[in-house]
Amino acid sequence: MSGITPDISNYASKDTMIHQEELTFGKWCRNIWDAVSTCFKGLMITGRYIVAVKPVTIEYPEVREELPTNSRSRLFNDVDNCISCLQCAAACPVDCIYITAVRRDKEAPKLKTDDGTPIKLDLRQYTIDTALCCYCGLCTTVCPTQCLTHTTDYEYAQYTLSEMKYDYLAEDIRAWKHRIVK
Ligand code: SF4
Ligand code: SF4
Repeated sequence: MSGITPDISNYASKDTMIHQEELTFGKWCRNIWDAVSTCFKGLMITGRYIVAVKPVTIEYPEVREELPTNSRSRLFNDVDNCISCLQCAAACPVDCIYITAVRRDKEAPKLKTDDGTPIKLDLRQYTIDTALCCYCGLCTTVCPTQCLTHTTDYEYAQYTLSEMKYDYLAEDIRAWKHRIVK
């Protein structure tokens, strides 16, 4: 190790100068005034927000935000009006719609959707893996009977990805029609 010792006398003298700055009575009063006035300014801003500014948060879940009707949130397929045309699955960019359908028995009673479209196929599976869905809305746009819709429901967090795969023929999911479809 070299024997050169840095000269710190300049630094030491500057520090000493800072600490030696004299606190006059006038400066002491100014410090007090600065402390009181800046506290007061802060409290004025707080007070203005308390009395004059509308809250920007809501007390969820007691209070719930209503989304606009054209929101693209949880998907719902009213399977009784689905004609199994596969157009939604063909339009889906991430291939997360799984449909199985078979031709209806010729002897079976004729069925129609609410808009009068004949139902020629029996839907056996209609599943959407909403964990893969990017909520682009293409599937709902092409649906000829408009049975597939985006709802405004946004409360469907799950603990596992598999729970986000919905079988729309299941009774509990059919029941969403009365709960989340407006
Ligand atoms: S909204 Fe979802 S399911 Fe529909 S086409 Fe887009 S990615 Fe596919
Ligand atoms: S586009 Fe509509 S009618 Fe056709 S399979 Fe999809 S949901 Fe059913």
